[in-house]
Amino acid sequence: MKEIAAPALEVQQLSFSYAARPALDDVSLSVAGGEFTVLLGPNGAGKTTLFSLITRLYDRRRGEIRIGGFDVRRQAVQAHARIGVVFQQPTLDLDLSVMQNLAYHGALHGMGWREAKRRAEAQLERVGLLEQRRTRVRRLSGGQRRRVEIARGLMHNPRLLLLDEPTVGLDIASRRELVEHAHRLCADEGVAVLWATHLIDEVHPGDRVIVLHRGRLLANERAEKLPSRLGVDSLDAAFDQLVNEDPECR
Ligand code: ATP
Repeated sequence: MKEIAAPALEVQQLSFSYAARPALDDVSLSVAGGEFTVLLGPNGAGKTTLFSLITRLYDRRRGEIRIGGFDVRRQAVQAHARIGVVFQQPTLDLDLSVMQNLAYHGALHGMGWREAKRRAEAQLERVGLLEQRRTRVRRLSGGQRRRVEIARGLMHNPRLLLLDEPTVGLDIASRRELVEHAHRLCADEGVAVLWATHLIDEVHPGDRVIVLHRGRLLANERAEKLPSRLGVDSLDAAFDQLVNEDPECR
């Protein structure tokens, strides 16, 4: 019952510093099941730091993080069984086949070979790469590699998928395809997506947009509502206004 009622992700009053240098300052946000949320922020905003705390790559911090209602520190196993991650830096083994990469991930999640293969095939079909399952990753395009990483991140049926600037290095068509694919995951499968980017054109109408700048949360609302609240006519102008008029920048 707890899990159905709980948001996919809940962050409360989170602060973190690298030595004396603050990277996140009192950040609170939540992502509902099946919601596509864009974490929008320029370089150095704190996006990767936030992901590193959610995945517990870093641990020393103030505040609370819960995934599906489970605290990432006190209930780490339950919490981390419920997230899939596509990191900013690609993490596939280029010399292994697509299936070998996915099977390895399955083994890390305690799946037997048959189960891992079944789940990997289902996910690869979803991203349109089933026919490439025996291909070495090195031979795939950048966009195809990213789709393999998404398939891998979904093999254990997480409630929440984190993607950290997943379109870096992709051409425009591959970028658009990846963004649309992630939106379909939300709509069709009810997976919550937290998509970190500095590219405003990756935001779709209806997405929730969280604007992060210098470690502080400057906005958190539906994309279509943000411009009118700020009295401007586009999301670009709203983002510019938020970031450039941030008193911390003066
Ligand atoms: P980008 O879009 O460039 O990846 P980001 O929004 O992901 O940026 P972070 O990488 O989280 O931002 O960085 C937030 C702040 O923390 C920046 O000022 C950055 O210089 C600093 N920072 C990040 N990693 C470290 C580290 N390992 N040691 C010290 N400072 C760091």
